[in-house]
Amino acid sequence: MELKNKRVLVVGLGRSGVASAIFLQEHGAKVIVSDSKSEVQLQSEVPALLDRGISIETGHHGERTFRDQDLIVVSPGVPSDQPQLQHARSLGIPVIGEVELAFRFLQGKVLAITGSNGKTTTTTLVGEILAKSGSKSGKKTLVGGNIGTPVISLAGQSTPDSQTVLEISSFQLESIEQFRPWVAAILNITPDHLDRHHTFQAYVDAKARIFENQRADDFAILNADDPTCVVLKDKIKGSLLWFSRKQPVENGAFLKGDQIVFSQHGQEQPVLSRDDIQLKGEHNLENVLAAVAMSMVAGCTPQQVREAVKEFRAVEHRLELVATINGITFYNDSKATNVDATVKALESFPGNIHIILGGKDKGSDYTVLNPLLRERVKRVYLIGAASDKIASHVKNATELVRSGTLERAVRQAFDAAKSGDVVLLAPACASFDQFNSYEHRGRVFKELVRSLSPVATGGRH
Ligand code: ADP
Repeated sequence: MELKNKRVLVVGLGRSGVASAIFLQEHGAKVIVSDSKSEVQLQSEVPALLDRGISIETGHHGERTFRDQDLIVVSPGVPSDQPQLQHARSLGIPVIGEVELAFRFLQGKVLAITGSNGKTTTTTLVGEILAKSGSKSGKKTLVGGNIGTPVISLAGQSTPDSQTVLEISSFQLESIEQFRPWVAAILNITPDHLDRHHTFQAYVDAKARIFENQRADDFAILNADDPTCVVLKDKIKGSLLWFSRKQPVENGAFLKGDQIVFSQHGQEQPVLSRDDIQLKGEHNLENVLAAVAMSMVAGCTPQQVREAVKEFRAVEHRLELVATINGITFYNDSKATNVDATVKALESFPGNIHIILGGKDKGSDYTVLNPLLRERVKRVYLIGAASDKIASHVKNATELVRSGTLERAVRQAFDAAKSGDVVLLAPACASFDQFNSYEHRGRVFKELVRSLSPVATGGRH
C-alpha cells in the first residue's frame, strides 16, 4: 500500500486511532484526524499529534473533511454505518479499519482470535506458548490487537519470520478487506454488543469475517460445543479444526479423561493434564483447548504447550482472586461485561455466592441468569444505571439489595457474607455509567476489598 503524499483521514482518536495517525504520517501520508469528542475530552491524545504536525478536527465530523480524502481509516469505536462514512464510500473513497491497515504492513505469520468471551485470556496464553517455541527457533512473537498494543504498532516490529498473535473484536472485523490470518479461531458466540450490531445475526456475521479471506493452506478453529460456531463450519475454506470439552473430535483438541489431547489426521497426541491448568472454571478449560489447537497447528510441541499452561495465571480482572478476609473470598471479574461471562463466573463456584451486578446496560437479557441465581446465589447487589432493568428481570430468583454504588455493594456484601462464602464482582454490564473502564471498576473493587478490616469485624460469624 503506497501512503506517500496520500491524503488520509483517521476517524476516532482512541489508542488505535492515535497509533494509526502516527504510522501513516511516518510513512509519508498527509494525515488529518477527526473525532466528535471535544478538544478538552481529548487532551491526553491531542498534544502528541499536534507536535508531529498532524491536523486535528475535534467536536464534530466535518462533511468536507470526509470528502477530500484518498483513504479513510476508522477506529473500532466508530460504527461502520455512520452517515459520513456511508457518504464517503458512495464517493468511492476506501474506508478501512486499523487492523486492515496494519495487515497490509505486517510481515510473518498472523494468528487471530475472536469470540464473545475469552479472547484476552486465550490470546495471552497463545502468545506465551508461541514465545516458548519462538525462543527455541529464533522466531519473534508479537501479541496485540484489541488487547492493548494496537496492531499497527506491531507492524513495524514484525519480520518475515515473526509470529503475531492478535485479539480481534467484532468491531474490528467490521472494517477488514484483505485481513487473512494463517490461523484463526472463534471461541464462542453469545449475545453481546447488540446496541451496536443491532441483531444477533449481524454480530455473528461480523465475527465470521475472521475466516473470510482464508485459503486452503490456512487453519480455522471452532468451538464444537457452541451451536452458533458449529453452523459456521460451512464458511471455512482452510483446514478446519475443532476444540471441545464434551466430545472427542477428529481434528483438534479435546478432553479424554483428564488428558487434553490433540488429534490431527487420525493421530492422537497427549498434550497436558487438566491438573496442569491453574485457571478457574470450565470456560477457561475451553480457552486452554482453543490455545492447544492453535499452537499445535502452528508447530509448537506438547512440552512447550504444557510448560506455558502450567505457568499461566488469570489475567487481571478475569475471575481474579483478590483476597480472603474472615474466610470470605473475593473475586474480581470486572471484565464480565456481558451476561454469558457472568454465567461462566457463577458456574465456577458451587454456591454461597454474593454477586455484584449492574452498570451500563448493552441491551442484554438478564433473565438468562435466573437458574444460576436460584441455585447458587445468596444475594444480588445491584449497582449503576442498569439496576432497574436487572431487578425487573431477576426479581423472582433471589434476594436483591439496591446498593447503588460499588462501595456500598462491597460493604453490604461483606457484612452479610459468612466464612466460606464468595463475593463476586461479575456485573454483566459495561462500566461507563460510573467508571472510565472495566479496568477502573476492577481496580476500585480491589481497593475497596483491601480496605475491609478483618480485625474490626473479626469473630462476627
Ligand atoms: P474477552 O477479551 O473476549 O473479553 P477475557 O479473557 O477478557 O475475554 O474474559 C472476559 C470475561 O469472560 C471474563 O469475565 C472471563 O472470566 C469470561 N470468560 C473468559 N473466557 C470465557 C469463555 N471461554 N466463555 C465465557 N466466558 C469467558
